[in-house]
Amino acid sequence: LLELKNIYKWVNSGSRRVFLLKDINLEVKEGEFISIMGPSGSGKSTLLNVIGMLDTFNEGTYDFLNEPVHELKEKHRANLYKEYIGFVFQAYHLIDELTVYENIETPLLYKNIKSSERKALVADMLDRFNIVGKKDLFPQQLSGGQQQLVGIARALISKPKLILADEPTGNLNSKQSEEIMDLFKELNNDGVTIIQATHSDINASYGSKIIHLLDGMRNRIN
Ligand code: ATP
Ligand code: MG
Repeated sequence: LLELKNIYKWVNSGSRRVFLLKDINLEVKEGEFISIMGPSGSGKSTLLNVIGMLDTFNEGTYDFLNEPVHELKEKHRANLYKEYIGFVFQAYHLIDELTVYENIETPLLYKNIKSSERKALVADMLDRFNIVGKKDLFPQQLSGGQQQLVGIARALISKPKLILADEPTGNLNSKQSEEIMDLFKELNNDGVTIIQATHSDINASYGSKIIHLLDGMRNRIN
């Protein structure tokens, strides 16, 4: 599905380079369920953003479905993202001006899906995540956990081939977390590839492989 080779990402601070990712090599095959673990600040979100083509890198090559992402124009990358990726953001990134219903519907507007079908798909998500009663509220009127559920519903609604989930249960209680991870497992069993960043050993145990990051580098010691 995708392959990162010798990826470096840095920012310049005065005359020196601060490395956010250092020599990352990673191959992800279709149907894998991978967990990225590591301390706060180790680069988990940065790596997920690079994989999701939401962030660029300075060196290395990245192939996604045999397309050389490092050579693609921004528009082309954005199209690949819309077509294939569902992203659950660590800080939700819901659109404040849109209702819960409209936020969840957004990914469908990029695709040629007719309005009656969109309605049915959103209704199914609202129901599945137990937020039917919240559909006309705006993100700021929800609790953190409810916003997280809306973010997950939005990521899943377009039935993406690849789910990138950044601390997807960080604001959920243990019962909700278990439901979300069970859902991810189910999707993975149906062939969806999943890469999650997590601090939770329980969440990581749902996946089939763990990648440890430390200071932007893959840490092979543990
Ligand atoms: P957490 O577990 O707290 O979510 P993380 O592993 O996801 O942490 P990142 O958010 O990827 O960590 O950040 C990795 C490091 O890169 C941090 O030290 C952060 O401050 C730094 N960083 C991220 N983006 C930028 C940026 N645009 N400019 C400068 N530094 C950045
Ligand atoms: Mg993070």
